[in-house]
Amino acid sequence: MRETKAPAVPDGTISNHSSHDRYSRQERFQPIGPEGQRRLKESRVLIVGAGALGSGTAEMLVRAGVGTVTIVDRDYVEWSNLQRQQLYAEADADERLPKAVAAERRLKAINSEAHVHGVVADVTVDELDALAAGAQLIMDATDNFDTRLLVNDYAMKKGIPWIYGACVGSYGMSMMFVPQETPCLNCLLETVPLGGATCDTAGIIAPAVQMVVSYQTAEALKWLTGHHEALRHTLVSFDLWTNQHTAIGVKDAKRPDCPSCGIDAAYPYLSAAHHRKTDILCGRDTVQIRPAHRVELDLDDIAERFRSVRHGEVRVNPYLVSLQADAHRLVVFRDGRVLVHGTKDPVEARIVHDRYLG
Ligand SMILES: [Zn+2]
Repeated sequence: MRETKAPAVPDGTISNHSSHDRYSRQERFQPIGPEGQRRLKESRVLIVGAGALGSGTAEMLVRAGVGTVTIVDRDYVEWSNLQRQQLYAEADADERLPKAVAAERRLKAINSEAHVHGVVADVTVDELDALAAGAQLIMDATDNFDTRLLVNDYAMKKGIPWIYGACVGSYGMSMMFVPQETPCLNCLLETVPLGGATCDTAGIIAPAVQMVVSYQTAEALKWLTGHHEALRHTLVSFDLWTNQHTAIGVKDAKRPDCPSCGIDAAYPYLSAAHHRKTDILCGRDTVQIRPAHRVELDLDDIAERFRSVRHGEVRVNPYLVSLQADAHRLVVFRDGRVLVHGTKDPVEARIVHDRYLG
């Protein structure tokens, strides 16, 4: 007789028997086995970014049975994302859903046994303690180096390994950083060329994304199941269009005087002097402006103010308010962040911001 699926109980687990087969093929893979599967269920992972890399990484880890996944992102879904950001569908882009919200929804549908927390926020040093609490691993899926250096300092200070991933065009690279064992990202900055092109100039194809996701997630599975002896420990890079694959040994790159992982590490990127207030978003004619202090905005109030703008078009959903006015579009999030579309100039963006929001 065919078993029917029982409804999910409030804590996110499923109280039926039809799901017992879910991980059978992964458990059959000898290095993981039932013990590795048990470890995955006990694992907690933070994914920084819910774009292309974050979508792929999150889906793979949640399908694999990682027990708790927090995925944080500051942006919302657009049509130009659908070509490669696998968690999102057309309705998400139409509704301009925050990626963290759309991702959580989709991930819970994929695996109701997983505890998935989607967090709509820009990652700052203030947020990291709460986001990374209890995490055994941090997955990098951001689109900018400032956030990576922040994550690197935080991870080195707290002793949490993290897995770097980046891709542009048909090219990608990845490396796992283990505190005390490997060099860190800051060690490598001076010896290894870490890109320069952006998706703004070079575009991107989905297979490059999936390749990086696979490199990152394979190391994640090794780490979380306790197979540290199997870790790759190289900086891997590839170009799927020109058919090049490289793995660089970087053991000797570890610097004893590194400010992020050396003997007298001061973790420079955790200090206020390195906090950004204005960012130009990769691949978009957009500037993000962040308040200096944490705020909680009343979006209804903002929407009401926007409606008084002559010739302005206002759109509202539970997560953001947007105003199209002249050549610019402002998108205001509850945490006080504002995206100013229609400019790459931070100064112009601040002017537009102040014009409508004070
Ligand atoms: Zn270092």
